[in-house]
Amino acid sequence: MYQFLIIGGGIVGLSTAYSLVQKYPQAKIAVIEKEVEWASHQTGRNSGVIHSGVYYKPGSLKARMAKQGSASMVAFCKAHDIKHEVCGKVLVATEQEELPRMEALYERVQKNKLNVTKITREELLEIEPHVNGLAALKVPTTGIVDYKQVTETLASLIQEAGVDLFLGTKVKNLEEVQEEVVIDTNQGSFKSKYLINCAGLHSDRLVKMANIHTDLKIVPFRGEYFTLAKEKRHLVKGLIYPIPNPDFPFLGVHLTRMIDGSVHAGPNAVLSLKREGYHKTSFNPKDAMDIFTYPGFWKMAESNMKEGWKEIVRSFHKKTFVKSLQRLVPELEAKDVIPTHAGVRAQAMLKDGKLVDDFYIIRGKRSIHVCNAPSPAATASLEIGKEIVRQLPHDAQIKVS
Ligand SMILES: Cc1cc2nc3c(=O)[nH]c(=O)nc-3n(C[C@H](O)[C@H](O)[C@H](O)COP(=O)(O)OP(=O)(O)OC[C@H]3O[C@@H](n4cnc5c(N)ncnc54)[C@H](O)[C@@H]3O)c2cc1C
Repeated sequence: MYQFLIIGGGIVGLSTAYSLVQKYPQAKIAVIEKEVEWASHQTGRNSGVIHSGVYYKPGSLKARMAKQGSASMVAFCKAHDIKHEVCGKVLVATEQEELPRMEALYERVQKNKLNVTKITREELLEIEPHVNGLAALKVPTTGIVDYKQVTETLASLIQEAGVDLFLGTKVKNLEEVQEEVVIDTNQGSFKSKYLINCAGLHSDRLVKMANIHTDLKIVPFRGEYFTLAKEKRHLVKGLIYPIPNPDFPFLGVHLTRMIDGSVHAGPNAVLSLKREGYHKTSFNPKDAMDIFTYPGFWKMAESNMKEGWKEIVRSFHKKTFVKSLQRLVPELEAKDVIPTHAGVRAQAMLKDGKLVDDFYIIRGKRSIHVCNAPSPAATASLEIGKEIVRQLPHDAQIKVS
């Protein structure tokens, strides 16, 4: 019998376990992950950026946790010798019409009390000599790291602290009974006083298994990346982002120097017909049915048809993808960019077709569920872990002896 059992071996699940052992060193805790390695899905397939919190609505969990989380992530990396770099990023306005959007973003960052400055074209060229821009915002606190390495470090730390870790263990059913939760897996049954669902792309299915009613559905959006040929890496010194369109903040490909020295371009955002589908042809009948029978999907599709179509074209037509990169770095040519891996975002959607913007956590009687943890949840993971522990109901805490 465990006191706390966490489902999901991504960065959110392991950060939560890390927070739990710090607060309750005597508690019996387990983490269950269906894959044979930590960070196999979103956490191990992302851009590796330690975000500063520039984009997020003032007052939102994302804004608060990205700001605090980037500081705690950098401190964690320093404390545990994890290679990282606070290299800064520029958000570049390449056309006149983007200048008012850049001003609006600048106002937002003032409200979020972030250290961001407006820079001229000349100042931009000193930072990124190959960029084409009229002006930019400079964010010095943004960094890079390998989140898989962070997650593996968390796993070692919690294991040393006595947490039981189960890889290759897939949760098939849950039952909240009076004093405990029974968790059925392919490796047998587990019992826990309290359950924490950090299952990313499958979190809504576990909410359903726990018999909690929500209107939410996880809709998967694949993000495909390209890598720059070695001899062209010098064109990108740090992180080069476009000014986001406020209506579609997660669209807009960027150029990112990774901690291993490579440079990635992407990701785009295309609907994925498989929750863990990393190829253009990936298809899973259950996942596809889930999308197409959800009324929210059709409402979203209707109102975002044009942007969705553009993303599909950009996915299948390399020249179109390269064109969006050339707006930022005109010297790049199609032959300089090579397709590489993809990641799939777990994005919660409501029945009215709206995407849930903020992090979203709900509670059952003996469980807590992370229902929406898209970007910047890797950056914010240590803070999300603390927040989950803070939200545990009083009786879950006092029974730890
Ligand atoms: C393309 C892309 C780029 C991104 N870029 C960034 C970035 O630069 N910076 C940033 O901060 N954030 C970024 N993000 C967001 C970030 O990666 C995620 O928000 C974060 O990794 C979420 O972590 P998680 O632990 O919730 O999910 P995951 O990493 O997906 O982990 C969930 C785990 O639960 C397991 N699981 C699911 N169901 C079960 C079950 N039934 N039984 C057992 N285990 C189960 C899965 O196997 C998985 O390992 C990006 C995301 C994507 C997709």
